[in-house]
Amino acid sequence: MATFLYKCKDIGYDCGFEFSAHAREDLMPRIRIHSRYAHNIYEMNDETTKKIEAAIKQID
Ligand SMILES: [Zn+2]
Repeated sequence: MATFLYKCKDIGYDCGFEFSAHAREDLMPRIRIHSRYAHNIYEMNDETTKKIEAAIKQID
């Protein structure tokens, strides 16, 4: 089973948050919640969404 990993650091935040999931689509809701409380991003625009999508890596 594949594992996908997101690290806040990879989009330039000085932040230790990372989250992994077996389904790529499980990451975004979690990232959205984190971005809201940790980075005050209440509306994720296309640019940010694309940045995050690009930072998600498949690790196995
Ligand atoms: Zn973060």
